Amino acid sequence: MKRIALLGATGSIGRQALEIVDAHPGLELVAAASGSQSIDGLAPLTQVGGDLTDLLERAEPDLVLNAVVGFAGLRATLWCLEHGVDLALANKESLVTGGELATEAHARGQGRLLPVDSEHSALHQCLEGRGAETVHSVVLTASGGPFRGRTRDDLADVTPEEALAHPTWNMGPKITVDSATLANKGLELIEAHFLFDLPYDRIEVAIHPTSVVHALVRFRDGAALAHLGYPDMRVPISYALTYPERAATPIPQLDLASGLTLEFSAPDLETFPLLPLAREAGRRGGTYPCAFNAANEVAVAAFLDGRLPFLGIAEVVEEALAAADGAPARDLDELVEADADARRVAERGLQPA
Ligand code: NAD
Ligand code: MG
Repeated sequence: MKRIALLGATGSIGRQALEIVDAHPGLELVAAASGSQSIDGLAPLTQVGGDLTDLLERAEPDLVLNAVVGFAGLRATLWCLEHGVDLALANKESLVTGGELATEAHARGQGRLLPVDSEHSALHQCLEGRGAETVHSVVLTASGGPFRGRTRDDLADVTPEEALAHPTWNMGPKITVDSATLANKGLELIEAHFLFDLPYDRIEVAIHPTSVVHALVRFRDGAALAHLGYPDMRVPISYALTYPERAATPIPQLDLASGLTLEFSAPDLETFPLLPLAREAGRRGGTYPCAFNAANEVAVAAFLDGRLPFLGIAEVVEEALAAADGAPARDLDELVEADADARRVAERGLQPA
């Protein structure tokens, strides 16, 4: 029996994970947490809000699925990595903000770090067993979101409702808005940098509207391996929860005869400036990625609340990055401080001038 703790159990990833756990006799849910919704009786141990590491200490899980949204997931990620407890990571924000601390904790703890983000799960599978020296570069695919093909002018008046209408994936509201701005792909660039120890100039982004190819690895001999599948998060969730077993799922097999469209193009960096801003924050390193994330969380919440126009999200993030000092965080407290500083600047940016 693999003892699973599920953090973020009421969310989009959390609910799909519950389905996978229910269907697999080798997986036992020993603990579950949510942010605010009651989850009494969902697991032997439950917690709503608070410090999630308290729950993990009590639950003694073999594997933690961190499906919390945002910076709130950081402490649990670091706890797992430090304690050598296997971590299935959906909460990309924790690796974006705490990438350096996480890498160090992982090296000490020596547990497994299994990405749940579909692109990174795909890369994990394409890279497994290959020498780092054989890898030329990797490509993360992006659907392009609901506003693919639009110009900046077109985006001035778009509503939260339009931003939440994602063409291929059905996800929580924060990541759905991030997909519409391409900030999500920016966060994923930084996530890939830390997960696979790759420099930014070897991580590319390609727009691929049907989301069938999740990622691709180019090798030095000219071969490229891609990972294909219908867009369904139960596949990477199941892969991470049952690794290395690759358990069966009820997801339909890819049907080539029904016609698959595999089109790719370069992202429009002018219309979607959060992607190049994230790349720049990643390159600069230190706490710049943390500032990027914090400001983005504040701006996305304000957009969803109707307090900020869509194009304002990138402006708020750009201002917060300009104001940040980016000094590396030596510990979690310093990271929490960098996050709070960037949030303050971002909140100021929301006030009418
Ligand atoms: P969601 O908004 O649907 O769910 C978020 C979950 O986190 C909820 O259960 C909520 O209660 C919980 N939560 C929030 N704050 C918390 C706190 N302080 N303490 C404990 N729990 C808290 O989000 P989602 O779409 O499921 O995404 C979760 C994470 O997975 C995000 O980091 C997202 O980027 C990543 N991800 C999601 C998808 C997807 O398909 N939904 C795909 C790839 C990656
Ligand atoms: Mg993804």
